[in-house]
Amino acid sequence: MFYLSLTLLLIAIFLFWQSDRQRKRSGLPGGRVIYSDMNEWGRVQKPLYDSTTRLTGKPDYLVERHGKIIPVEVKSGRAPEAPYDSHIYQLASYCYLVHKEMGKRPPYGIIHYRNRDFAVDYTPELESALLDILTEMRRDGRRKTVACSHNLPARCRGCGYNEICDQRLA
Ligand code: SF4
Repeated sequence: MFYLSLTLLLIAIFLFWQSDRQRKRSGLPGGRVIYSDMNEWGRVQKPLYDSTTRLTGKPDYLVERHGKIIPVEVKSGRAPEAPYDSHIYQLASYCYLVHKEMGKRPPYGIIHYRNRDFAVDYTPELESALLDILTEMRRDGRRKTVACSHNLPARCRGCGYNEICDQRLA
């Protein structure tokens, strides 16, 4: 069960990565630059799990602030102008899991890039978009083939499925 959930999360992250253009259409929150004190951050020991969605994942850190628990996702690269959609959805997954497992809904999560931190509000709209993607992912998981959703050869070159994918562009 754990490995199935882990696989689901990996597929979810892959789909989130592909969903950049979708977010621009749906108007999800972008993120605001904040200062965050890394000394407050606590490492997460074990993955969080939600049995309803079978989603699992482990944020890099959790921060307790004013009685709320805030997940933190660390990215090694420099900050883009605004957080990537894939990063927003990944963070939303952690907000969702924190809410389900710990019973406290995070008002926002933090994406920590090398040179900048962004707070991303965990809005009902973001949660709903996340659940839509998980539903889509489950539906696609039952299909024998899923149409490629992008036109980016570079993405295929860096994809772990390149060797076996009959839709690869490069
Ligand atoms: S190789 Fe296939 S699965 Fe990977 S990005 Fe390209 S089309 Fe998508």
